[in-house]
Amino acid sequence: MDGYAVMATSGTKGARLWVAGEQPAGRDKQLRIAPGEAIRIFTGAPVPAGADAIVMQEDVTRDGDAIVINTGVGAGEFIRRRGCDLAEGQRILAKGERLRSATIALLASQGIADVAVGAEVNAAIISTGDELVKPGGKLDPGQIYESNSALLNALLQRCGAAVNSAEHCHDERESLLHTIERGTKSDILIISGGVSVGEHDLVKDALRELGAQIEIWRVAIKPGKPFLFGNIDECAVFGLPGNPVSAFVTFLQFVRPSILKMMGATNLDLPELPAKLAVDLTNEGDRAHYIRGKLEQGTFTPVGRQESHALFGLSRSNALLRLDLGQSLKADEIVDVEIWNW
Ligand code: AMP
Ligand code: MG
Repeated sequence: MDGYAVMATSGTKGARLWVAGEQPAGRDKQLRIAPGEAIRIFTGAPVPAGADAIVMQEDVTRDGDAIVINTGVGAGEFIRRRGCDLAEGQRILAKGERLRSATIALLASQGIADVAVGAEVNAAIISTGDELVKPGGKLDPGQIYESNSALLNALLQRCGAAVNSAEHCHDERESLLHTIERGTKSDILIISGGVSVGEHDLVKDALRELGAQIEIWRVAIKPGKPFLFGNIDECAVFGLPGNPVSAFVTFLQFVRPSILKMMGATNLDLPELPAKLAVDLTNEGDRAHYIRGKLEQGTFTPVGRQESHALFGLSRSNALLRLDLGQSLKADEIVDVEIWNW
């Protein structure tokens, strides 16, 4: 604090103290204070020996070489004691924790210039579909804009992964084979669309043809059923459903934790918060349902159409509620929701 270092016992209201010296920040002048004295001091300066309080300059009246104290002074006031934030030997970060803005600052504050971190994960994105047009282009009848690359690019960056490439590919065997082959040069390959059961869903066959080991195909969640996971050599391949909300949900449930694990993180879950449910909800379907909603002031309200194409509702949401098979929830119940704008 900019002000005067004093002994609290002599810093009573109305006391007149002689200003015996000045202690700026940045160099310890090793000053010592005697009873009846004050030392001019500035924020960030070391406290002179013998002083146990700082009086703000706003609380004194300067009178030549002296000050008059206009307010009572308590011992310890405006002094940051050595070790009050961290004690020697205290653990400040554990292996597997993510580096965040505050932890990076904490490391720097302890003089640590370098830390060993987990592996970088780089990713290739492939969007598939004959109906898709790059945003910015002109739509012909029967076409829609391709939005999953933008979605996946943003999600990947948010996870701390590097995006090596984003390519679009038609529903055509040859080009799919070539595009996938290029994509497998990355640590992970994310393919959107073409993993369902239609005649034009060629991704699974293309992966097999390229020697992929397919570990998972189809999962019991809604949206996201056609999700696929496999490996081609060292590359982890994720096939996400083309419907944008399905791609979003399967990314968060399966791709994000995989990336974090590859990076060496220990906590792979999305942050969860308890929330009061705004409405009754029942899952009468045959799969666990991820409801998109908004958590606001402790209340979770489903937003928008709960369909796998409905990006507008998703864009208004900030949390997901997993409603298990056959589960019924009542309004005002407290539930845990997953926060996706972590
Ligand atoms: P698919 O998984 O290929 O059967 O696609 C399912 C639905 O998602 C279809 O209606 C597609 O038009 C749509 N879709 C697929 N890929 C994308 C994409 N990259 N951007 C926007 N919509 C897509
Ligand atoms: Mg398709």
